[in-house]
Amino acid sequence: MVRFDQVSKRYGAAGKDALNGVNFELQRGELAFLTGHSGAGKSTLLKLMMMMERPTRGQIHIDDQLINTLKPSQVPYHRRKVGVVFQNHQLLFDRSVYDNVALPLQIAGYSPVDCARRVRAALDSVGLLQYEQRNPIELSGGEQQRVGIARAVVNKPALLLADEPTGNLDPELSAEIMDLFVRFQQVGVTVLIATHDIALIERMGKRRLILDHGRMLGDTHVVA
Ligand code: ADP
Repeated sequence: MVRFDQVSKRYGAAGKDALNGVNFELQRGELAFLTGHSGAGKSTLLKLMMMMERPTRGQIHIDDQLINTLKPSQVPYHRRKVGVVFQNHQLLFDRSVYDNVALPLQIAGYSPVDCARRVRAALDSVGLLQYEQRNPIELSGGEQQRVGIARAVVNKPALLLADEPTGNLDPELSAEIMDLFVRFQQVGVTVLIATHDIALIERMGKRRLILDHGRMLGDTHVVA
């Protein structure tokens, strides 16, 4: 589903490499964690996968497509295959939970009926159907993050990326959020989660990719 071949990324001509010769593969339906010190290149790797940045060298295949060479007009189609969850969830506080989750579908031009069906399915999948008319500001941090996840999966993406999705949550809520990602994996979604939370990863027993100063150091399968 995902393949990086000798991928490097340098920001600006004079900068150092944020990523340096990175190779890895994720199989369809696999869930892996991406770890490494602050500045190791985790966010950069995720941004390359969403085409928010382009690699300086190397090749990135996603869903059997070489994405480095996509034309700007093809980027929106690529992004529809990729759901993204951010640490600060980037919700709009002047709109309802429903409208926040519906946003990607409205941009993609879905009819209101299709939109309603998918938004409710996405909210149901994160256990928040009863909150659709609430404003996200009334919800707890964990619930807000669930809205962010519902918005990321409402397009039914084949690939789900998360950048520190539990960064602001306590351990119990973090574990619940990680369980949600596992549930998406169980229905065939490929999931990559960047996180600092080593204790949580060790409990979950999933594959772990380790970045260090832009290099892929290791690739381990943690046994829970
Ligand atoms: P992480 O997510 O692991 O903390 P990042 O991918 O954010 O790491 O950063 C990797 C390196 O790239 C760091 O040295 C960071 O300063 C640099 N970097 C990240 N984004 C930019 C940018 N937009 N411009 C210049 N340098 C950047």
